Amino acid sequence: MTNVETYDILVFGGGKAGKTLAMDQATAGKRVAVVEAGMIGGSCINIACIPTKTLVRSAQLAGLARRAEEFGLVRTGPVSVDMGRVAARTAAVVAGMVEYNRQAFRAAGFEFVLGWGRFVEPRTIEVAAEGGARRLTGERIYLNLGTKAAIPPIPGLREAEPLTHVAALTLDVLPRRLLVIGGGYVGMELSHAFRLLGSEVVVIESGGQLAAREDADVAAAIASQFAEDGIELAFKARITEVAGRSGEQVTVRLADGRTFAGSHLLVAAGRQPMTAGIGLDLAGVELDARGFIRVDERLQTSAPDIWAMGEVAGSPMFTHVSLDDCRVAKSGIVGGARTTMGRMVPYCVFIEPEFARVGLSEKEAREQDMSYRLATLPMDVVPRARTLSERKGFMKALVAIDSDRILGFAMLGAQAGEVMAVVQMAMLGGLPFTALRDGILAHPTLAEGLNMLFAAVRPAKSQSAQNAQASEMSIGVETVKVIHVTIACGQPFEAVRDALVKNVPALDTQLMEVLKGANAAEIKERRAAGPKLWLFETRDHGALVAAEGQAKKSIQFEIGNPLTAERMTRHRLAAGLYAPLRIVLYEDDQDRAVFEYDLPSSLFDQFGDEEIAKTGCELDEELKHVLIAAAG
Ligand SMILES: Cc1cc2nc3c(=O)[nH]c(=O)nc-3n(C[C@H](O)[C@H](O)[C@H](O)COP(=O)(O)OP(=O)(O)OC[C@H]3O[C@@H](n4cnc5c(N)ncnc54)[C@H](O)[C@@H]3O)c2cc1C
Repeated sequence: MTNVETYDILVFGGGKAGKTLAMDQATAGKRVAVVEAGMIGGSCINIACIPTKTLVRSAQLAGLARRAEEFGLVRTGPVSVDMGRVAARTAAVVAGMVEYNRQAFRAAGFEFVLGWGRFVEPRTIEVAAEGGARRLTGERIYLNLGTKAAIPPIPGLREAEPLTHVAALTLDVLPRRLLVIGGGYVGMELSHAFRLLGSEVVVIESGGQLAAREDADVAAAIASQFAEDGIELAFKARITEVAGRSGEQVTVRLADGRTFAGSHLLVAAGRQPMTAGIGLDLAGVELDARGFIRVDERLQTSAPDIWAMGEVAGSPMFTHVSLDDCRVAKSGIVGGARTTMGRMVPYCVFIEPEFARVGLSEKEAREQDMSYRLATLPMDVVPRARTLSERKGFMKALVAIDSDRILGFAMLGAQAGEVMAVVQMAMLGGLPFTALRDGILAHPTLAEGLNMLFAAVRPAKSQSAQNAQASEMSIGVETVKVIHVTIACGQPFEAVRDALVKNVPALDTQLMEVLKGANAAEIKERRAAGPKLWLFETRDHGALVAAEGQAKKSIQFEIGNPLTAERMTRHRLAAGLYAPLRIVLYEDDQDRAVFEYDLPSSLFDQFGDEEIAKTGCELDEELKHVLIAAAG
C-alpha cells in the first residue's frame, strides 16, 4: 500500500491558476504539491497562447514583407517561408518560457510531481509518476485541469487524423491547402497565420459569421479582411462527412452539397474539459451537462475543501482569467471576499489587424436591454495608423445613455490590444468617457484615436431631454428620438439657442463648450470640398448664421418636414451603419471650431445627390427648418 503524502495545498493540474497559486503559497511557507501530467507551465506557454502568438509574429512579418514595396523598400522577389525555421523559432520561445517556469517553480520550493493523476479516494490523488505511483492529499485541493480540443462526432473526422492547435503549432512544412473547421478565435488566428505564411486556407464555419460572439459589423470587417487576404470562407456549413487523411489528401463534404478538398485539416471547433476518467465522482466533485466542474462564485466545488480554477471550472477561456481565478482562490484562503462575479474580461484575437474588446458589445447590451450611445471611428483617420500604413479597421465605444460611464470598447486595428488596455483602465477606474475624450494623449499614437472616438459620443439624455417635444420611433434595432425644431435661419442666436435648449437640452452644454485645437487648414479644405451642410456659427453668442459642412454627402433634414427626418432615420437603421456625420460650429471669421458634434449616421450614403439637394436647403433662404435628429 502506497504512503499518502500530505500537503497543506494540493494542486491538481498545473495551468496558469494552479502554478501561480502553488508558487504563491509555497513562498508564503505552506507545504504545497502540484500534480502535472507533463506540460511545465501549462497550456498557455506550451501549446496555446505563446506558440500561437510566436507563429502569428512570423506570419505578420511574411505579410509585411509582401508589402515591402509600399514602404519604399527594394523589391527582393517573392516571399517564401522556411517553415522549419518558423517552427524552430516557436519551439525556442516555448522552451525559454518552460525553462523560466521550471526555475521559478524550484525557487518557490513546492513539490512538482510529473505524471497523470486521478482520484483514487475522496481526497487522495494517485500519480503515475516516474519511479512509481505516488499518492498525495491536501488540506485544500485545487483542480486546474484545463481543456483540450474537441473533435466533433463527424463521420470520418477522427479517422482523418486532423491537426489540432497542438500539432499545427509545430508543423515544419507549410500546408499547401489547409481546411479549418471552426471560425472562432483559435480557428481565426491559425487560419490567418497560415494564410500569411503562404498556405491556401478555407475556413468552414457552422454559424453565419466568424467570431460568433461579436457584433455583426466586427465579424463582417474581419470576414472582408480574410477574403481580401485570399481566405475562402464557408458559412452555415453542416459537415456530413470527412474523407481521406490530413497531411495527404482530405475532403470535407457539407449537407448542402459543397465540398472542400485540401492537403491538411485543422479542427478548432470548441474545447472539451479534462474531467473524464480521473475519479472526480469518487471525490464528490459534480460536473455540469457539458462535463465542466460546477463551482460557485468563490470557485468552491460540490466537494468540501476542493476548488476548481480556470477553463475546467467553466471560466472564460483566457489565461488572464485563469490568473484571476487564482486571485479568487487566494482570497478564499485568507478569508477574503473576492469572487468571480462582475469581472471585466478583456481579450484579443491576434489576427491582422488585431481585434480587441472589453466590456459590452452592442449585441450584449441589447440582450441586457441596455440603452447606450455609440461612437465609431475608422482607423483611417488616426494619424499613427497612417504613418504605419495600417489604416484598416475601426474603433467603437458604447457609453451609457444617461451617464458618462463607458460600457464597452472594441477595436479592429493595429495594436488593438494595447489601445484597449487604456480604455479598460478608464473603465476600471470609473472614469467618465470625457476623460478619454479630453485627456492629452501623446501624438501620434494609436491610443490618441481615443480622443477622436470619444468626441463622437452624443450628448447624454437628460431628464428634460426626455421631456422634450419629441417623436419616438422604435424601428428594429434601436430607438431613435427625432426632435423637430422649427427656427428661422438668420435669427438671433439667443432665440435659436432657446429653441434648442427647449427641444434638445443636451446640446446646450455642448454649444458652450470650446473644443480647441482644430486644424484650420483641414477645416478649410473640408469647407471647400463638401456640399452644403447646415451649421451654426456662434460669435460670442451673437447672431446665428448657418455655415457649410464637410461630409461627402452630408445633409441635415428639414425641420418642419418630419417625413424627411423619419425617412432618413429609417434608412440609417436599415443600413445598420454608423459613420459619423459631423456638425461643426465655427467662430465668425475664424477657422477654429468651437463645437463639433458627430451624428452616428451613414444613412447619407443611401441618398443620391439629387435627393440630397431636395432635402437640403440654402441657408440664406429664409426657410423654417433646421437640424436635428438627436438620437437618444
Ligand atoms: C490555440 C490557443 C490559443 C490561445 N491563445 C490565447 C491567448 O492569446 N490569450 C489567452 O488569454 N488565452 C488563450 N488561450 C486560452 C488559454 O490557453 C487558456 O485559457 C489558459 O492556458 C488557461 O488554462 P487553464 O489554467 O484553465 O489550464 P491549462 O493551462 O490548460 O492547464 C491544465 C493543466 O492540467 C494538466 N492536466 C490535465 N489533466 C491532468 C491529469 N489528469 N493529471 C495531471 N495533469 C493534468 C494539463 O497537462 C495542463 O498542464 C488559447 C488557447 C488555445 C487552444
